[in-house]
Amino acid sequence: MRLILLGPPGAGKGTQAGHLVARYGLIQLSTGDMLRAAVSAGTPIGQQAQDIMARGALVPDDIVVSIVGERIEQPDARDGFILDGFPRTVPQAQALDRLLTEHGQALDAVIELRVDEAALVRRIESRIAETQARGEPLRDDDSPEVLRRRLAAYREQTAPLIAYYRRRGMLRSVDGMAPIGDVAAEIKRILASEAGKAASAPRRSRRPAKRPGKSPRVTVVGKKAKGRATAGLRHNTGARRKLRPRRTTARRTVARKPKA
Ligand code: ADP
Repeated sequence: MRLILLGPPGAGKGTQAGHLVARYGLIQLSTGDMLRAAVSAGTPIGQQAQDIMARGALVPDDIVVSIVGERIEQPDARDGFILDGFPRTVPQAQALDRLLTEHGQALDAVIELRVDEAALVRRIESRIAETQARGEPLRDDDSPEVLRRRLAAYREQTAPLIAYYRRRGMLRSVDGMAPIGDVAAEIKRILASEAGKAASAPRRSRRPAKRPGKSPRVTVVGKKAKGRATAGLRHNTGARRKLRPRRTTARRTVARKPKA
């Protein structure tokens, strides 16, 4: 299973990814964690990313894409993963599409955790207070000022991904303000329904193209793919008459050829 968890900072992506790791044995790929590891290790990427992250801005797409590209090629990622914090921009999403296509893979779902911004600020403030109470060091970007910048980066650069994946029919939205257990249950329900769809897909593809005794499925010559999809849908809902003239046109085109 290949999933994306989408949502602003503090939406609970890491928490839910943890549940999914425990439940489905998937690996969690968090670009934030990978970048922080690079910063701690002092690698060239880490040196480049450090100040950008501390400011609450986004690390350049090419850097993040190359990290993810290398990571998903590792053997432990072959059977699936949860992407947490990636993609964060439309070019990153396009690069991910290319990477997955190159490996003959596809996404199963994109889960958006929908949250209220004021609540996010409160959540992150309490995360900061809890970390301090435990005597643990704060992340460089754990401050109200940087949080505001991270939220702005989300609104401007990441939120357009919601429309990007909705257009592809992949977006599933969950109320991220619900209690953690309820959010996890809702994600589980979504994944079960996606798995059900995947299981029934081969049966659909085995259906013969021409059904004996019935008119063939719509054939539209010279129309765009989008038009064809719509035509197929209308055909299936019974509005056949609308489509017959198109099929006739197609036949006439074929019939004219020998005369030419
Ligand atoms: P959070 O989960 O708190 O939103 P992350 O740990 O995912 O934050 O990311 C921390 C920082 O790392 C981001 O503010 C950004 O600077 C950088 N970062 C992480 N993922 C990406 C990405 N996909 N593209 C660009 N920058 C990223």
